[in-house]
Amino acid sequence: MATIQWFPGHMTRARRQIEEKLKLIDVAIELIDARVPLSSRNPMVDTILQHKPRLVLLNKLDLADPAATADWVAFFQEKGLDALPIDAVTGSGTRDIVPRCRKLMAEKMEARQRKGMNPRAIRALIVGIPNVGKSTLINKLAGRKVAATGDKPGVTKGQQWIKMAGGELELLDTPGILWPKFEDQQVGLRLATIGSIKEEIMPADEVAFYAVRYIAEAYPGVLSERYGIGELPADLSEAETVIEVMENIGRKRGCVVSGGRVDLGKASTLILRELRAGKLGRISLERPDMA
Ligand code: GDP
Repeated sequence: MATIQWFPGHMTRARRQIEEKLKLIDVAIELIDARVPLSSRNPMVDTILQHKPRLVLLNKLDLADPAATADWVAFFQEKGLDALPIDAVTGSGTRDIVPRCRKLMAEKMEARQRKGMNPRAIRALIVGIPNVGKSTLINKLAGRKVAATGDKPGVTKGQQWIKMAGGELELLDTPGILWPKFEDQQVGLRLATIGSIKEEIMPADEVAFYAVRYIAEAYPGVLSERYGIGELPADLSEAETVIEVMENIGRKRGCVVSGGRVDLGKASTLILRELRAGKLGRISLERPDMA
């Protein structure tokens, strides 16, 4: 769970820290969440990373809709960015990271060789907003626990290089932490849906309301199948209709208070917990046509 409360001072410091690290590396590995590739990106990432060769990793592929993920890979490739879906927990897809970095650096390394210089390791840095899986990925690639979770901008510690692929690639063990685009209400709701914004900032019932309406429209059948609530109304434009669906789910799951009334807060927490755990299947909250 993300713990950082971002203030302008934090952003300035985070940016300065990444800019320092950029001087040390050849390739920037931008980690985003495959379910929300727009909302889990920093709004200034292109400016911050400048012209560094970049690999985009769509993490948590296990939770995302495979068709949407494939569309996102094509979307980034059209923009000239190499993109790769991965699962940092199981390591699925991660063995392609080194070959992709090698490809991004091929020209530069060949030029070095032509000048008679010795081959050297490709140096890389993982960057991303909180909770996208930076520490999980660094630990996975290192094969041991090296990255601290719950990292904060401004907390400096000695950084080390993790050697991979027989010394061909070296990865900084402290990731670059970026901030999300909070000004946008949709971005906030989507990040809260995947569990990247604390409940004190975005109440569960508000988030579940958004999630239920979205899932009912984008993945018809999923909610009625999971909760046995019969066919959903076709038109969910009225708030009361969405709340009725949430109440039906709550009733089915025993989220009731005295008098048989549905505890909407409890139902909301349950829905969000199941969604985040993948119990509703593989669901993406964003598609390239929303970009
Ligand atoms: P960081 O803040 O970017 O360093 O993110 P963490 O590495 O702390 O990961 C945040 C949460 O996402 C943790 O609960 C991880 O177990 C989880 N996580 C990371 N990668 C994956 C993945 O590929 N799939 C799933 N299902 N969970 C992941």
